[in-house]
Amino acid sequence: MKCPVMSHDHNNPGPARPVTTPALPDAPAPKARAIGVLGGTFDPVHLGHLAIARAAAAALALEQVLFVPAHIQPHKLTRRVSAPEHRWAMLELALEGQQGLSASRAELDRGGPSYTSETLRELRTTYGGDVRLFFICGADALQEMDSWHRPDVLLASATVAVARRPGCPASSQIPAIAARLTAAFGGEVVVFDAPLLDISSTAIRSRVAKGVAVEHLIPNAVYQYVLKNRLYTEGNCS
Ligand code: ATP
Ligand code: MG
Repeated sequence: MKCPVMSHDHNNPGPARPVTTPALPDAPAPKARAIGVLGGTFDPVHLGHLAIARAAAAALALEQVLFVPAHIQPHKLTRRVSAPEHRWAMLELALEGQQGLSASRAELDRGGPSYTSETLRELRTTYGGDVRLFFICGADALQEMDSWHRPDVLLASATVAVARRPGCPASSQIPAIAARLTAAFGGEVVVFDAPLLDISSTAIRSRVAKGVAVEHLIPNAVYQYVLKNRLYTEGNCS
């Protein structure tokens, strides 16, 4: 028996019928965008900072890491910090030509005490819900985070991504510190592997003050800037 041929008049769509869309093959899920934020004093920026930024970018598939120098760090009020414009200039020199690494003036331009929670809340609004934010830090910063301004806002705005830091006892206690923090304030802490570089700005400042070599600890352009501007020397040292 021949099947009746259904003619289809394009001008007359006929009675409305529910249309069932054939199942489409699963499209690959679009890759979520992810941005890292590395806050600090950067007095001066050093190779340890660059190493954790690059390691975080690789481990967490970050499209960009923003270095955000603090204007005034509420927990560093007791020591002299180099002028914001010196710290900014050194960051620019260190990040020049570094793919995927850039600096943000958000805290410098806001002025006053710099609260990471506020910065991350602003970035959360800027980027919208489709972008994942990671706040990158070392174990020493994680350990102090519960005393920072509004840790609840910080943890609601970004996932904290922490690296071990040589010479920092908190490095071996990261899981316990992270558990305490998230139990108290919510959010998420992840650990990533970074090269263990025993470098700190404090050690660099004190070496420069004593005239000891630091070329192997900071980018060359930053070293030249330190010398030219006589940073961290007698009377100029924080
Ligand atoms: P300072 O000695 O003046 O405190 P710093 O070397 O600790 O300087 P900061 O600007 O305070 O540098 O640090 C910014 C962030 O980078 C912090 O989260 C800190 O834990 C992290 N960090 C700095 N140096 C290292 C390092 N060598 N390894 C891992 N994390 C680091
Ligand atoms: Mg520090």
